[in-house]
Amino acid sequence: MTIELRSDTFTKPTPGMLDAMFSAKVGDDVFGEDPTVNELEAKAAKLFGFEAALFCTSGTMTNQIAINVHVKQGDEVICDALSHIYLYEGGGIAANSMASVNLIHGNRGRITAAQISEVIQPDNVHHPVTKLISLENTVNKGGGAFYDFSEIKAIKTLCEKQKIPLHLDGARLFNAIVETPETPQDYGQVFDSISICLSKGLGTPVGSLLLGNQAFIKQARRVRKRFGGGWRQAGFLAAAGIYALDNQIDRLKEDHNRASVLGKIMSAQPEVEELLPVDTNIVIFRLNEQILAQDYVKKLSEKGIQTVTFGKHLVRMVTHLDFTDDHLEEFERVMKGG
Ligand SMILES: *Cc1c(COP(=O)(O)O)cnc(C)c1O
Repeated sequence: MTIELRSDTFTKPTPGMLDAMFSAKVGDDVFGEDPTVNELEAKAAKLFGFEAALFCTSGTMTNQIAINVHVKQGDEVICDALSHIYLYEGGGIAANSMASVNLIHGNRGRITAAQISEVIQPDNVHHPVTKLISLENTVNKGGGAFYDFSEIKAIKTLCEKQKIPLHLDGARLFNAIVETPETPQDYGQVFDSISICLSKGLGTPVGSLLLGNQAFIKQARRVRKRFGGGWRQAGFLAAAGIYALDNQIDRLKEDHNRASVLGKIMSAQPEVEELLPVDTNIVIFRLNEQILAQDYVKKLSEKGIQTVTFGKHLVRMVTHLDFTDDHLEEFERVMKGG
């Protein structure tokens, strides 16, 4: 039995999702004529209370399009130093939008209104113009940490005062939503744009959505084409997205419960020095200084457990819909040397 914990992107479509995909009605989406893509975009926009949405290939694409619409060359984006938009998108802020980045060192990737207010650039020819503030929820590199919504509201108040748009990289937003009282509508009210991944915890093969108002999504659609992301009969993939939004959100709690058990098992391992709090579906732990993450990951892999390094001594595990109780039992057996 292989235990796949490298990422929640490894999931395969469930039988119900495959049925939905095979029976999708499709058309050419570049012409705006794929009925299933249109249905997915309308459904997601409505869920969050936005006017419009755009279906794209990846979360990197939805984030990079959003940044490209919000900023122009020489402007500045404020985000946490652990942000995916900064660390894991190939330098896209610079390469695609020729913009600068102002990094904040937050708490496991979460930044505060007070921290942001200290670094927003004053109106002075020496400085870049702060044109976007971007948050990530949950924070991948922060071990799946999620925001307290009151902090997000404080950030929104600051953004309104300073007239700076607020973007959310919500690749795993639903993992936060199932743990907190807020609804997608609450998020729709405070952010100018939101990116959500369908291919992570929601379990589709491919796809992310960018949400915003009509004018924003109109521009985003142009940028998507320019980035080479215009696609044709994408309805087969959109059908998987519709299925995921209808059927695979509430079950994310199961992933969180299993992650919490993984965390307990790992913190009992002699090689593990520190475990980040397990808030959602991500488990990150630090090994003692004598052990390199790459060696530990290799050792686990030889025992059938797939994980990834997340730093010199850091290892990450992510639970998902193809990691079942049977996998968890097997994991426990292997880790306890049985
Ligand atoms: C996975 C991820 C993305 C997008 O990744 P793609 O692989 O491009 O879909 C964006 N932000 C965060 C926080 C992520 O974890």
